[in-house]
Amino acid sequence: MPEGPEVRRYADALNAALCNQPLVAIMARTKAAKAWLLEHPQTLLGRRFERVRSHGKNLIIDLEGDFHFLSHLMMWGRWQLLAKSELPGLLPIDRRERARLETPDTLAILMSAPVFDIAPGDPYENFPYLRELGPDILPYDGEATFLQSTFTERLLAKTQRERTIGAALLDQTVVAGIGNYLRAEILFECRLDPWRRIGALAPEELQCLSATIPLMARRAYDSGGATIEDESRERMRGDPSLVYAPGRDWGMRHYVFRRTNLPCLRCGDTIRQLRQTTRVIDDDEKTRIIYFCPTCQNTSIELKPLRKSKRAEAPRRSAASDALVVDAFVVDALVSDTAIG
Ligand SMILES: [Zn+2]
Repeated sequence: MPEGPEVRRYADALNAALCNQPLVAIMARTKAAKAWLLEHPQTLLGRRFERVRSHGKNLIIDLEGDFHFLSHLMMWGRWQLLAKSELPGLLPIDRRERARLETPDTLAILMSAPVFDIAPGDPYENFPYLRELGPDILPYDGEATFLQSTFTERLLAKTQRERTIGAALLDQTVVAGIGNYLRAEILFECRLDPWRRIGALAPEELQCLSATIPLMARRAYDSGGATIEDESRERMRGDPSLVYAPGRDWGMRHYVFRRTNLPCLRCGDTIRQLRQTTRVIDDDEKTRIIYFCPTCQNTSIELKPLRKSKRAEAPRRSAASDALVVDAFVVDALVSDTAIG
């Protein structure tokens, strides 16, 4: 699933390609947007794109005259940018397309995303879930920095005290933009047990979270999805025992995420994975896989003994369900998480 840094990279690429250009054609397949366009067939044409921005995992496109598009990529969505001059002719509409925005020079195509909306007026008024979002992990220059006070205030709300920190970091109303790879990496960096109750967090642990969240997000944005620093990447490059597939960049991007059964880069203990309950809706428990180092993060949860094996093995689920999604246009390579939660 694209997380905050991946969505911001899409937003920045769209902003660079579309800004100040007029919209010359539009197609939408999501129900509400399609209906809106049928009712207002000419309203948007000729209006210039003003800005494309992201807040957490939501992407907002501002069009001249206070019109706005909103997209959320969920699990498999992605934006594609195509230069019309490089296309042989009219590009047929793919069945996975959810929306297509066209300027004189560019096609911006939204693929496989379930959410694409159109509305006049302030998007934070029209889409209440935007209003509820927590502070963005990637603040824009010139705007408020990562709002530590808002983050800790929301994290420490009375209703949250019994919740685990591993679950809370995925709650977009607490902090916007963290998904499964960032939460595992942030918790490792702060040496925090994912099952620690929020009410039990010490002030210095809260401080570490506040500092590490924007730092990891920025690193992932700058590097196209990696959370590791260069020194650790070099160690992995030189030591085949630290990776599943030597020489493959996707295996050298994180400290713990998708490194199950491999040695921890800090202490040498074996990285583990477990399903963690992240939400309970009507007695239905939603879980996500959390990756962690039992020693560095001082976990107390019961773990099955490790099978004795000379070689580290990738967890069984990985071959079938962990897909590597590569988008050549915007995001260099991002490892997508298929666990739904
Ligand atoms: Zn460790």
